[in-house]
Amino acid sequence: YTSLEQTVEERTRDLARSMRALEERGRELSIANEHKSQFFANMSHELRTPLNAVLGYAELLADGLYGELPPKAVEVLERVQANGRHLLGLINDVLDLSKIEAGQLVLACDTYALRAVIEQVVASTESLARAKGLALTAEIADDLPLGHGDERRLTQVFLNIVGNAIKFTEQGAVVIRAGAVDGTFVVTVQDTGPGIAPEDRARVFEEFHQVDNSTTRQKGGTGLGLAIARRLVALHGGDIRLSSELGAGSIFTVVLPVHAAAPATAGSGQEAD
Ligand code: ADP
Repeated sequence: YTSLEQTVEERTRDLARSMRALEERGRELSIANEHKSQFFANMSHELRTPLNAVLGYAELLADGLYGELPPKAVEVLERVQANGRHLLGLINDVLDLSKIEAGQLVLACDTYALRAVIEQVVASTESLARAKGLALTAEIADDLPLGHGDERRLTQVFLNIVGNAIKFTEQGAVVIRAGAVDGTFVVTVQDTGPGIAPEDRARVFEEFHQVDNSTTRQKGGTGLGLAIARRLVALHGGDIRLSSELGAGSIFTVVLPVHAAAPATAGSGQEAD
């Protein structure tokens, strides 16, 4: 018995030691992770300031503040602006993702009208759709209750999903439908694009994942949009689902509590940006 007790005692001590070592390692890792997120957040912030200056100066030129530019210069300036905006989008995405990962993204929740959010998304994407000859329509239920959540972030979510639908669809239509069932908003975005293969359906929500075909790569993008969208919806206590048929199109469904579950107070204090 004594030797058995001794063994048990020793094992218990070993186990306790291992537990302490693990806890220590866990603490180190979470500190390192926090540093990483903080680094990305600082970097993004530092990159944004000069880039905003570049875009600002380019706009002064484009507005003709210093006289009319020769046609070739206008063309070059447009490229400067397009690339600058693209880079800004990238930086903002990395900033958002690192904030979310560090638990520092604070939702600014308030009352919002889902109809207004969707109408704004349609207004800012319809020229893109028109340029591709796509029909973009929204069918919004008349009796939607007012929601409670972060209107700017939700607009970002729907802009991403509708933007993707337009970006990846070559002909046909993009239809947004919004309704409310049992305290939940259900918004679907349906397209007649190429569809997403079963093996890619979960992965498109992962960071940097883009379906590996030439068209996707040609369209540019970062592969961060849906990862951010899903996390923003999750912060509201909701979820994004995807159903799709190759060659027929995709339907992204956002299921969102009318009243955001928690007034997300993750992280410390206010958002820096
Ligand atoms: P990005 O659009 O910047 O590449 P996202 O995270 O928004 O990144 O999307 C990830 C990938 O999911 C896209 O690159 C594309 O391959 C695929 N995808 C997203 N939306 C659609 C869609 N409506 N139809 C087909 N493929 C899509």
